[in-house]
Amino acid sequence: MGIAIGVDLGTTNSVVSALIDGRVVPLENASGTRTIPSMVTFPEGGSHLVGHAAKNQQVTSPDRSVYSIKRFMGRRHAEVAHEEKLVPYTVVGKPNELVKVRMGRKLHTPQEISAMILEELKDIAEAAIGEPVTESVITVPAYFNDAQRQATREAAEIAGMNARRIINEPTAAALAYGLESMRSKRAIVIDFGGGTLDLSAMNINNGRFEVTAVHGNTHLGGDDFDQRIIDIVADDFLRRERIDLREDAMALQRLKEAAQHAKVELSTREQTEIILPYVGVNKHGPVHLQYTLTRETFEGVCADLFESLRTCCQELRQIGGVGTGPNIEIILVGGSTRMPAVRRIIAEAFKTDKLNKSVNPDEVVGVGAGVLAAVLAGQMKNVHLMDVTSQTLGVESAGGGVSIIVPKNTPIPHSISRVYSTPRDNQTSVPINVLEGDSASAPDNRTLGLFRLKGIRRAKRGVPKIKVTFDIDADGILSVNAADADTGKSQEVVIQGGSGLTKDDHERLVEEGKNRRIDRRDRRAKVDLCDHAQGVVINLSKWLEHNKPYIESRAADQLHGQLGKLSKAIDNRREEKIRKLLTELDGIMAQNKAG
Ligand code: AMP
Repeated sequence: MGIAIGVDLGTTNSVVSALIDGRVVPLENASGTRTIPSMVTFPEGGSHLVGHAAKNQQVTSPDRSVYSIKRFMGRRHAEVAHEEKLVPYTVVGKPNELVKVRMGRKLHTPQEISAMILEELKDIAEAAIGEPVTESVITVPAYFNDAQRQATREAAEIAGMNARRIINEPTAAALAYGLESMRSKRAIVIDFGGGTLDLSAMNINNGRFEVTAVHGNTHLGGDDFDQRIIDIVADDFLRRERIDLREDAMALQRLKEAAQHAKVELSTREQTEIILPYVGVNKHGPVHLQYTLTRETFEGVCADLFESLRTCCQELRQIGGVGTGPNIEIILVGGSTRMPAVRRIIAEAFKTDKLNKSVNPDEVVGVGAGVLAAVLAGQMKNVHLMDVTSQTLGVESAGGGVSIIVPKNTPIPHSISRVYSTPRDNQTSVPINVLEGDSASAPDNRTLGLFRLKGIRRAKRGVPKIKVTFDIDADGILSVNAADADTGKSQEVVIQGGSGLTKDDHERLVEEGKNRRIDRRDRRAKVDLCDHAQGVVINLSKWLEHNKPYIESRAADQLHGQLGKLSKAIDNRREEKIRKLLTELDGIMAQNKAG
């Protein structure tokens, strides 16, 4: 196995890291930054753009830009009512179907969009490492369910990579943190990013990371704070100018960026100005927006969001039996932990002002993924990782109740069997409804799989023994197996949790991914050829100018003519022609030298 990369596939930004010269480091992209926006833009009639290139296009084509796709991974339409309102693009699908993003006449699955981001990260890594990358470790929020984890795995596959492990983001953060601090300690990782809040309590002991409890809120993140600013500013503008900026996609996009910028500024300043010139037009001409936002106002309009954070911290303390005080290390992860109110609330909730922020909050998850990637590739030793399940798993019992098989926070990998029986006499089959969730009522939980175990020998109720086995692998992915242990005949049905993507769709997407990568490579080769040819035109023109007195006029004319043709071919992007003209130029130059 070659070099494996670690990927933090974030809601807002993504990071790729790898072991280089004995250290796991975040890798820089061509523009010199170590995070890329998790964004894909589909320009009208052109090829898709990813990361910074996509973000640059966002202002001019907001409805063709896809961000926060992670919020839709492995989810059905009925589950994303809240998320749908936060994005300018259209998501479609029947309530019980996986959502898809509509872009013009094409529909894209969230897996496909995520794969485009992963392809970009793979390219960054390959450029930095200098060899092809096919192995990866990808992080997901601790609260991701089975379908969401599977969807992430599928995205990697579409991007031409094997996801060797899917790990929880807070676990990755602690792994990265453990590199600097190997002493025995109890830690709480608070990961507050653009879209989600994940809290984890863990024990760290000589390179062993044990997650003891996880908790969080999948509907709380930096985007929600941005939205509050957008709303107060847009409401104020509507009142004063009678223009609703939320109805103009381009103005809204500008306001969105300004709101996020203002929020970031308020992390270090008490007050900030939001200024958007020419943001709208009324009968007197163009109108400009200017709004002064204080930290106090901001914290006031976001009070309930901050309270949700406080509640989450308190709930984690209860679930995890987590103590308080200065002996607990608090590890801050994600951009939103830079907000002073967030730090204040965390310090209050855990009764400590010793918040640990020495690990770069934007890169720590990506680095942790890289650590695990290096460990799995056998390049790093002495790091052991023990993770826990984030969801309660069970089966529906007679009467619509739930029989819990794997409680939340069970260490994984884990395998457990339970024996059930038939509720009625002479029953030859039983339905097995595999559930995920905390409700005691089956219909209020999420069905991961539903199947019928057939061929049970007729007997009085309670006599047959049906053994149900739950197997959870190190990635948190579940397989369920039911067998009639009573007859000895093993009739087995195994269900594998899936993202909900059909086999056909899956195969098609993997194939399209392959073609897309070939396309990208060809396009890049074309750009390189054009750049090279352009360089030849510039340098040769200079050379001709410089050496005018020494060059025969017939030869100079011939070269000028050739360069003119080459420029035209570059403008028209005619690859074959460019190659032919370059070869001819080489010939002419060689002849001149010989002459
Ligand atoms: P992440 O998902 O960790 O990349 O976090 C991104 C989120 O953090 C976005 O909502 C950013 O607006 C937010 N963020 C980044 N820097 C700051 C800051 N200095 N203050 C407040 N929020 C920030």
